[in-house]
Amino acid sequence: MQHSNIITKNNDGSLNVPEVVTLPFIEGDGTGPDIWRAARLVIDGAVKIAYNGSRKIHWMELPAGEKGYAQTGDYLPQSALDAIKHHVVAIKGPLTTPVGKGIRSLNVSIRQKLDLFACVRPVKYIDSVPSPMKHPEKIDMVIFRENTEDVYAGIEWEANSDDARRVIGFLTGQMGALIPADAGIGIKPMSEKNSKRLVASAITHAINNGYPSVTLMHKGNIMKFTEGAFSKWGYEVARERFGNVTITEAELHDAYAGKQPEGKIVIKDRIADMLFQQVLLRPEDFGVIATPNLNGDYISDALAAQVGGLGMAPGANIGDECAVFEATHGTAPKYAGLDKVNPGSLILSGAMMLDYMAWKEAAMLIRVSIQRAIQSKTVTYDLARQIMGATEIACSAFGRAIVHHMTP
Ligand code: NAP
Repeated sequence: MQHSNIITKNNDGSLNVPEVVTLPFIEGDGTGPDIWRAARLVIDGAVKIAYNGSRKIHWMELPAGEKGYAQTGDYLPQSALDAIKHHVVAIKGPLTTPVGKGIRSLNVSIRQKLDLFACVRPVKYIDSVPSPMKHPEKIDMVIFRENTEDVYAGIEWEANSDDARRVIGFLTGQMGALIPADAGIGIKPMSEKNSKRLVASAITHAINNGYPSVTLMHKGNIMKFTEGAFSKWGYEVARERFGNVTITEAELHDAYAGKQPEGKIVIKDRIADMLFQQVLLRPEDFGVIATPNLNGDYISDALAAQVGGLGMAPGANIGDECAVFEATHGTAPKYAGLDKVNPGSLILSGAMMLDYMAWKEAAMLIRVSIQRAIQSKTVTYDLARQIMGATEIACSAFGRAIVHHMTP
């Protein structure tokens, strides 16, 4: 059959994944080819060992980034976007943002053009990874960051430009605002529909993965009709669509004397600055975090640092139609082609991808064996410089070491 190797999606969002599946990949720029080679070895190794050869991935390369430009004259060819949509699931390395080519960021373009509205970042401690926290093992959170609006859809006008003057003229003349004449202006939209679909996907993730709470992170004490509305809409969608499995924090205290009932997820909200304190002081109180774009940008990287840095942090951008799993760091161009950097972020994104495809045994095998590789202290430079007595190995050797640890 012509399409028998392609994932399809059911109306309820679940996937039909064939045993032999074709998945597109973008290897990425800079260090992308190095980490992709290592990640591919690990993903293929895990699938082979977990399923004894009965499942297999056929990889299909998509040209994008510098390779895309060299082959097609386009950094992000439409054919690559179409292929991701068609295959439902894809994985990518980091892409350089071309400077002075009128493109803000290829990564942001991919998210927006494919309507991948949720940037999902699990943050969980891997034993033996150096961390600045006293108890990093208490951290087990998943951030759902809105990917299509807030500052990603923000509009700005430069101070003293004609446009800024016109906007200021309108706001002061017709809306009664008080704005200095020489101000730069920024506007950010946040809508009910897009906020609700993000929070709904966060709650669904909490339900499917056994997280006890979903925290709505916002700055609604200052920006009531954007950030504050995000929180209000979050509570609304929890009540409207998940009323049988969610309770609010107020209900937890009033109706259940503070004891979380079996089978219920607590929906709570926190002002962004307070949440930054609380994830340091009481990380065990937080599970899934749903948040608008800019807050999500900050908290994702801060939490990644709490468990050992961006070199190991996996991520995915997920929409209704398709999902792209990606390394969360950039192209680290000074190390390009040196076979040096840590492929952990892309490898763990691969594990997330396998989980998403319900190939959970292979995903678990990757997580267990990356932990064993780190515990054995033969690691890439970034970890070696922080782990006492560690031996530095190359990116490719680290990939091979992980595969080696898959078999007892
Ligand atoms: P970067 O590529 O993330 O690199 C910054 C530093 O982070 C590196 O110098 C290195 O630190 C460390 N690092 C990054 N990846 C690592 C890895 N795999 N293993 C170990 N350490 C790693 O950030 P950047 O230099 O700001 O950005 C470079 C390019 O990447 C830009 O064009 C940017 O637009 C793009 N970018 C792409 C993405 C994406 O595709 N999702 C994300 C961010 C940036 P040390 O110097 O301490 O060794």
